[in-house]
Amino acid sequence: MPITAKRGPALPSATANYHRLRKAIHLFCFLAFLAIPFFNIVRFDIPRQRFYFSGYELWINEFGIIFFALMFLMFVIVASSVFYGRVYCGYMCPQMIFSEASIAFQKRLERWFNKHCPDWSAPMRKRMAGAVFYLALGLASVCLAFAFISYFVEPRDLLRRLMSLDVQTAGGISGAAVTAITFLDFTLVRQHFCTTVCPYGYLQGMLGDPNTLLVCYRDEQRECIECKKCVRVCHMGIDIRTSPFQIECVHCGECIDACEDVLRRLGTQGLIHYTWGEHGREVGGSEPWYRRFGFRDAKRFIVLMVLLFYASGLFVALSMRRAVLVRVAPVRATLYNIDPDGTVHNKFRFTLANRGKRPAAVLFSIQQLPGAKLLITQNPAPALPGETLQGVFEISASATTQLKVVNHFTILTTTIPDQVNDTFAMTFLMPARKEVP
Ligand code: SF4
Ligand code: SF4
Repeated sequence: MPITAKRGPALPSATANYHRLRKAIHLFCFLAFLAIPFFNIVRFDIPRQRFYFSGYELWINEFGIIFFALMFLMFVIVASSVFYGRVYCGYMCPQMIFSEASIAFQKRLERWFNKHCPDWSAPMRKRMAGAVFYLALGLASVCLAFAFISYFVEPRDLLRRLMSLDVQTAGGISGAAVTAITFLDFTLVRQHFCTTVCPYGYLQGMLGDPNTLLVCYRDEQRECIECKKCVRVCHMGIDIRTSPFQIECVHCGECIDACEDVLRRLGTQGLIHYTWGEHGREVGGSEPWYRRFGFRDAKRFIVLMVLLFYASGLFVALSMRRAVLVRVAPVRATLYNIDPDGTVHNKFRFTLANRGKRPAAVLFSIQQLPGAKLLITQNPAPALPGETLQGVFEISASATTQLKVVNHFTILTTTIPDQVNDTFAMTFLMPARKEVP
């Protein structure tokens, strides 16, 4: 079949190299995967019952912030699927990155043994390559499992467990189990995980629409030379020419590079492209910037608005967050106590939770209760970082004061050094006159 004229101006640049772009993004994502828990960017710390987000240490009872953080992360996934389909799978997913890396490493080892050990028999070279591969994957699995568990356990605690070869406690057993699963995943399962277990591929089927980014084969001029290079390079083992909607396709773009590479040598351009939907334009070309970023209909703007809503909610919740949580409540098991000299005592309970990274203290005082005294062991009461403590204090008033039976007043707390004030409306109870001795 003769190769005919060049295609129209909307075609992507002939120099597009998605393979190189993916490998650069893979490296970046790998480093990010390792760094995120170490710098407390995201971690659900199960033993400490904390949620770390963007460097903030959030306590499980900080529901508002955790809600906005989770909703924001969820909508990032939704928005990325609506706009760009499965590009996350092909470019950023750790499962894909490590599966591809393990396959490439295995092939490289086999080539190395074939080249450098020509005197060995072929089965021997294969066995040696396999032994080195499994040994290296074993060590890599320990490191990857460590990085993965760091999303749930503080990395320094985890390292101590690892160094003491802890396989007896629940944490140690979990670490050993995750290491074994990681090893099996990257030696046997690899990309089969994407098409069998991973829910994201199925979710994408629901979130995509006619404007979602796809990898699409178009050959109106019947230029395909049936070289099948696009099929050979596909690590998911599919033929993109069959359909752009195959569940296995992770939109990695390797087949785009492959076809481009073959057909450019014949003086024409590739037949596989990133397109906005099955029948939409190919990516690239001259369009307003917002359309090039995927804002191709009103739905995309609504998705962005929802994302911004959760981002602003999260920002506001974080900016209103106080490092030290103070709670004060009356102890009403006994309404009041009366000393022999007639002094009346009311008891109150306080809770301090220092969620910050600095030592703090809380100063208690009372307002609108003339003649009353605050009796507390330590004022200001200190609270170390991460500490939650409870205590009691009393407020006393002489029987000769002019207080009523029920007196409304305010307890003021001042957190030091942040100088944050909290007020608590309380009541002070006095006995009716006849009870006074
Ligand atoms: S690489 Fe291109 S030319 Fe070759 S089979 Fe695939 S689509 Fe056809
Ligand atoms: S068909 Fe192309 S884009 Fe899809 S997974 Fe295979 S190589 Fe990647």
